[in-house]
Amino acid sequence: GELTSLPDIEVSRLEITETNSPKQPPASSSLVFGHTFTDHMLAIPWSAVSGWGAPKIRPYAPLALAPSATVFHYAQALFEGLKAYRDSTGRITLFRPDMNMKRMNTSAARVALPTFNGDAVIELVKRLIRLDKHWIPDLPGYSLYIRPTLIGTQAALGIAPPSEALLFVICSPVGPYYPQGFKPVALYATTEYTRAAPGGIGAYKLAANYAPGVVAQKEAAKKGYVQNLWLHGPEHYITEVGTMNAFLALKHPDGVTELVCPPLDGLILPGVTRDSVLNLARDHASGKTLLEGLPESGKFVVNERPVTMGEVKQAAEDGRLVEFFGTGTAAVISPVNRIGYLGEDIQIPTGPDGMGPVSRPIWKQLVGIQVGSIPSPWSVVV
Ligand code: PMP
Repeated sequence: GELTSLPDIEVSRLEITETNSPKQPPASSSLVFGHTFTDHMLAIPWSAVSGWGAPKIRPYAPLALAPSATVFHYAQALFEGLKAYRDSTGRITLFRPDMNMKRMNTSAARVALPTFNGDAVIELVKRLIRLDKHWIPDLPGYSLYIRPTLIGTQAALGIAPPSEALLFVICSPVGPYYPQGFKPVALYATTEYTRAAPGGIGAYKLAANYAPGVVAQKEAAKKGYVQNLWLHGPEHYITEVGTMNAFLALKHPDGVTELVCPPLDGLILPGVTRDSVLNLARDHASGKTLLEGLPESGKFVVNERPVTMGEVKQAAEDGRLVEFFGTGTAAVISPVNRIGYLGEDIQIPTGPDGMGPVSRPIWKQLVGIQVGSIPSPWSVVV
């Protein structure tokens, strides 16, 4: 027969079923990250025979899946995380949702799950948020955490591309990560566990990346550290911080401050916050958009380059380590004050507010854009 391409996700096919029993959003002060969900969810089925089906917004409810569904056996699962913010005028915006859709498609392709039109899903997510927008607490630092997920649902054992899949999106109102100001964290530079390996899946937001981190995190906690600092190879290259991307700042003998971020070499998740921090820092370094508080152009450089624990340890000993921090959607920027490495603690300076001199101006600009007080093409109006 004739070659036809299967249908992609079509916003015009959206069917909405509103809940008959809307819940009362809980008091903002009682919110625990990821424990409360809004009244509705988005679900889009896919099959190898008919492609993407009609998107449905329906009451938040359990899924019915066969115990044989491939997601339970072969970890055919991936997810995203982004936030919707309400600005002081009541306008709701998403932060760079195209980046999450791009990453979601990259993750899907890596595990033979179906890819899709990301713009259509952004539009559907907007419709979902509009329906549940009263769930976004009207308080500074609060937002709606959005969790798009894609799973293989074919009811059959056997490792193969699934013939059926489900994309769904749920939403959770969340409070500020640091309600009492920044709290620097201590990291354990683990030489026992690794997060990712060359040729593996570290660069994708696959569910399979997260289960093995739990035991490693518990062991770090037992030693008195909050998270692991994930290393790679006998050189102990720095890769990531728990579930955040890693950054550090060095002061060189010529007076230049260098912001360093490990490169996307396949072991590292391409974080949206990472990309945003790099962009803002580079715009400052090039003189395009100056950020108050950062060293002036010519005294500030930004490099994506490999960096080892040896270099960090030496810089700390020489008094040239300016700061170390993680970046991610949940906390935006997480300062680090101590790294346990090979039986010793490397001390890292932090400012009086917990932040360092490089991350503070970048954080200010980034959060200003996210909450809508600084206009930016990165803000997408819902
Ligand atoms: N690395 C890992 C392993 C993560 O899970 C996350 C959170 N998605 C990040 C980095 C930060 O990514 P983003 O800035 O897109 O939230």
